[in-house]
Amino acid sequence: MNRLLIIGPPGAGKGTQAVRIAEKLNIPAISTGDIFRKNIKEETELGKEAKRYIDSGNLVPDSVTNNMVRARLAEEDAANGFLLDGYPRNVAQVQELDSILEDMGVEIGRVLLLVADNDELVQRLLNRAAEQGRSDDNEEVIRHRLKVYEEETAPLVALYTERGIVKEINGLGDIDEVTERILDALK
Ligand code: AMP
Repeated sequence: MNRLLIIGPPGAGKGTQAVRIAEKLNIPAISTGDIFRKNIKEETELGKEAKRYIDSGNLVPDSVTNNMVRARLAEEDAANGFLLDGYPRNVAQVQELDSILEDMGVEIGRVLLLVADNDELVQRLLNRAAEQGRSDDNEEVIRHRLKVYEEETAPLVALYTERGIVKEINGLGDIDEVTERILDALK
């Protein structure tokens, strides 16, 4: 039960909740978006490769993302569990994750699906744009990211539902309240 995914549209609060839940469970929160942003800041090759996709709100190619995740999950701190935030994001990445986990001899225990309605999402992302100045938080790119989520990532929910491991969580309300809902869902 300590190998977890958190899935949800941009703005649902995945990053915030992932950090809190991971801390509580004493496992690393692994955010592919954060890893990309760190690489962009440090101007690494990976960062240069990823930047144009991120700035336009598109997915970074699987060839780049999958290798990055495989390497991260092989690190020592992930041996006893992890919470993946922002990966997998399309069906091909689900297959890759299945293969990575098979090689590690482990399985996903739960998929946390964080939901909120679209107007709320856009509003939160616009607020975050004002606070954090993320390069992909302007209205046009936000709408595109929501569309990419609907088209590429939302279909994953059915896939994991078939495996019987999805818990849907209402992402509305204050941060502590949502954290409590998630912890309840993990009991
Ligand atoms: P996030 O911080 O999860 O909202 O991710 C920000 C951006 O990073 C996304 O809009 C994508 O461009 C890129 N990204 C993050 N995770 C992935 C992934 N699993 N596959 C492809 N691109 C990703």
